[in-house]
Amino acid sequence: MHRFAKSFTQQEAIPDTAIDAAVAVMRSGRLHRYNLAEGEQGETALLEQEFAASLGVPYAMACASGGYALQLALRACGLEAGDKVLCNAFTLSPVPGSIVAAGGEPVLVDILDDTTVDPADLARAADESGARFFMLSHMRGHIGDMSAIMQVCDSRDITVIEDCAHTMGASYDGKPSGTFGMVGCFSTQTYKHINSGEGGLLACSDDEVMRRAIILSGSYMLYDRHLAAPDAASFDVTRLMTPNMSGRMDNLRAAILRPQLAEMQQRKIRWNSLYSCMESGLKALNDISLIERSPREYFVGSSIQFGLEGWEKGDISRFIAGCEARGLPVKWYGNPLPEDYTSRYDSWAYLSDSRTLPNADHVLSTLCDLRLPLTFEQSDCESIVMLIEASLNDSRTLLSIES
Ligand SMILES: *Cc1c(COP(=O)(O)O)cnc(C)c1O
Repeated sequence: MHRFAKSFTQQEAIPDTAIDAAVAVMRSGRLHRYNLAEGEQGETALLEQEFAASLGVPYAMACASGGYALQLALRACGLEAGDKVLCNAFTLSPVPGSIVAAGGEPVLVDILDDTTVDPADLARAADESGARFFMLSHMRGHIGDMSAIMQVCDSRDITVIEDCAHTMGASYDGKPSGTFGMVGCFSTQTYKHINSGEGGLLACSDDEVMRRAIILSGSYMLYDRHLAAPDAASFDVTRLMTPNMSGRMDNLRAAILRPQLAEMQQRKIRWNSLYSCMESGLKALNDISLIERSPREYFVGSSIQFGLEGWEKGDISRFIAGCEARGLPVKWYGNPLPEDYTSRYDSWAYLSDSRTLPNADHVLSTLCDLRLPLTFEQSDCESIVMLIEASLNDSRTLLSIES
């Protein structure tokens, strides 16, 4: 049996310019972001400045992880213990985890067939729960109807925090993802769009929310060393009213990230060419349904999702096993138990939420997912499509033998 030999979890090497910058930080010994020589601005502060500029917002802050950015954002927006927080039913486990970490209670919202949040159910969930916050996850890079979503939230005075772990570099109606809500949160963990192993970034345009985020992140009153922050003189009250929840980024990671951020444009183009190759190949296969993407959405195709509409669980299991045997680790959200990154909302058994989510159940039961690392080339995508076709054919043969 022909097998795909490359790894779906192998990212590109860190660029040489980034390695040189990291080595320079190590030679200096000044790894802590606030440990600066006379006149030095520091890699972390510069990363924040460049990231803010890339989104067209005044403020940005780097921190320990994407999940940390999410919980910090909730606290900075004024979440209090026991507050309800709306959250897409289709997202990754650190999203409900960050709500719980901040002391909130997740209220799950159903999704549409394209896996994005259902604005009608969002309105229902908001009215039933009285939630004042919505953590909007652009899961797997799919951006929902932002006009409808923001209309539901704005009309109810709901504060929106965007989880942009898969949408760094993406936009909707030309507006960067992460600039629609009060705070946009990003991850620089290895499997996201720029890679520092672990790390997070938070973007914001509101003075007080940003002041709180900076103090919360553990700035030891050294907020005047930030370059994408409100004026230091304006911290007078906030600095005494906000606890230190230590979770900074260090200069080493920031040094690794800056050259990668500068490459985002080329990375987007490369990702989208892999995605479009996969998409056109999969489109031609029977039984595979791809997720429709709105022309208003400019996405970064770092992964691809497809459904097997009408297929029974047992048949999908066989298809997944066939893919596995061919070297394709296709992830399936219909799997009864969480595996790798595919956990489904019903695997978060610690939640007390009990809303019914019929469309999420339906869509996720056949939804499959593949990462597209930049170590792949066009020809790899063509091989993957052929191997998926072979696995589909095998499963179909079995189906017809059985019946
Ligand atoms: C990775 C991820 C996060 C959290 O990022 P970490 O840096 O791993 O904490 C949040 N949301 C989604 C959708 C993610 O994929």
